[in-house]
Amino acid sequence: MECNCCHAAVAEGVAKCPSCGFPVLAAGDGSPEYNRILTEFRSKRLSQIIIEMQVYSYEVSSSGVSEAGSAWHTVGLASALKAGEVVWSDLDCEALPSDRSFTVRLRIRNGGTQREQAVTFSPGRTVSRSCIGLAGEDVFTFRLAVGSKDDYILSDTIRMLS
Ligand SMILES: [Zn+2]
Repeated sequence: MECNCCHAAVAEGVAKCPSCGFPVLAAGDGSPEYNRILTEFRSKRLSQIIIEMQVYSYEVSSSGVSEAGSAWHTVGLASALKAGEVVWSDLDCEALPSDRSFTVRLRIRNGGTQREQAVTFSPGRTVSRSCIGLAGEDVFTFRLAVGSKDDYILSDTIRMLS
């Protein structure tokens, strides 16, 4: 079976989806009332999800370049994403290469819980800038975009829920 809300696989006889918490109702029949509850539940869950990225800062001294620390920056809100569109953040990571493999760390905050996920980009074509954005996909999934509005690369699909 598949959860009607987040499309995760759900075992037979389970009362709630283990991924998003939506009740697995026998009456998931597409009636207007069911659809209203589903839409309301989805937008409430999405409104709790914030996607952040770990950004490193560097110091230049006489002995060379060293890492000065890192901080989490908000990249976007799940509720702002639309399928097939990239929502760009104000993050511009000049250091990200696109002609070789690189990994960034995301933190997905979900109400009171959070989890971290490493996102690796394979070597691809070179993009001239490294702005960071989120591309909406199916419900509760997205891709990380690196580049600029007219020229960007996308990560593999990332799930918002665990
Ligand atoms: Zn679900």
